[in-house]
Amino acid sequence: MALSRWRFSRRQFVAEGGLLSALASISDRLFSAEAGPAAARPKKSANIYDRLGVRTRINAKGTYTYLTGSLVPPEVVQAMHQAAEHYVYLEELQIAAGKKIAEWLGVEAAMVTSGAAGAMTLATAACITGKDPDKIRRIPDLTGMRTEVVVQKSHRNGFDHAVRNVGVRLVEVESLEEAEQAINAATAMLYYSNFAQNMGRISLEQWVALGKKHSVPTFNDAAADVPPLSHLSDYNKMGFDLVAFSGGKGLRGPQCAGLLLGRKDLIEAALLNSNPNEDTIGRGMKVGKEEIAGMYAAVERYLKVNHDAEWKAWEKKLETIERSVSSIPSVRTERYVPDVANHVPHVRVTWDQAALGLTPQECASKLEQGDPSIVCLVDEKEKGLGFTAYMMQPGDELTVARRLRAVLVEAGKKQSQG
Ligand SMILES: *Cc1c(COP(=O)(O)O)cnc(C)c1O
Repeated sequence: MALSRWRFSRRQFVAEGGLLSALASISDRLFSAEAGPAAARPKKSANIYDRLGVRTRINAKGTYTYLTGSLVPPEVVQAMHQAAEHYVYLEELQIAAGKKIAEWLGVEAAMVTSGAAGAMTLATAACITGKDPDKIRRIPDLTGMRTEVVVQKSHRNGFDHAVRNVGVRLVEVESLEEAEQAINAATAMLYYSNFAQNMGRISLEQWVALGKKHSVPTFNDAAADVPPLSHLSDYNKMGFDLVAFSGGKGLRGPQCAGLLLGRKDLIEAALLNSNPNEDTIGRGMKVGKEEIAGMYAAVERYLKVNHDAEWKAWEKKLETIERSVSSIPSVRTERYVPDVANHVPHVRVTWDQAALGLTPQECASKLEQGDPSIVCLVDEKEKGLGFTAYMMQPGDELTVARRLRAVLVEAGKKQSQG
């Protein structure tokens, strides 16, 4: 069984300490979850989270950075472990991994970045400096350079700070005509926020066409927008000059990694703006050999995953949760799939709050404070809770089903007694 390799190498991981023990704890969890509760579990003291006194959580919510994104699968741990055992020239590794990733995805060029946010800063820098060493050294002082990035007002969000890091001013527009008028000699980039594509008036295709017409590079932040797999190349094929993805969300690469995909000249410029080059805006956005190797292995894995089977397995787990609460009076369940970002099956659980004397927020707190701690979505608009199996470990669905049922049943009892 392939997993026995993991058991064997675990001791090595632990012996090497630091980052590798964190990875080992992940492989431990994968291992023990696969092997079932009867298998020998590592001693408690070996687990990094126990040693730190940090609680582990069941993730019934999806890919959220504050919740550490996703868990790296064994293939990724293995690639990171192997990378950690040898010295290489970092740039040579970065270029080699980028070349392979670009080939696999059918895009012109690629690089591993420090997350989607790092990719956003490097993309903006690349559009401004090109490969000019003097400009690369001077930014964010933009004297004599392009200083504006055009964005739809509805696409503004906290992550655009990563664009503003380069010193540019974001010029907000609403209609296509406004966007057309906003473009001038100072426009460095047209920035699109993929998750907001249904919130603004300008479509992905129109944004690309606008950039082409005015010869201004277009960038799409698609950080959380796999699955589906095709998204990894859809936006480049559509004509975006640069596209960013998070490595540590659906792709299940290292949490601090990401991808910047697009035009060869711009990726080369982004690399020049980045670590290990010292006098650059990207020097603090370092990706090490472990992250580059891990990201490479994560993309390789993602291309092989049976996405249909995975989707069905998520749905089956949701069924377990639905079944556990279906007999509780007033409790309703309903499936949904968010349009963009965490585009995977979810179940929404709602109930008569007066009848159970319990708000969704109170229920979520009980799940979160219980043992084991479960983190789910609180759906303010629909007045319920949301659950997805997307980021669950094997067996987590049973724990979630049992605990959710217990909290709802207990609330009902209290209410009927009171
Ligand atoms: C998560 C996210 C980011 C940041 O991604 P990191 O990989 O954590 O840097 C940027 N934009 C959007 C829309 C995101 O969801």
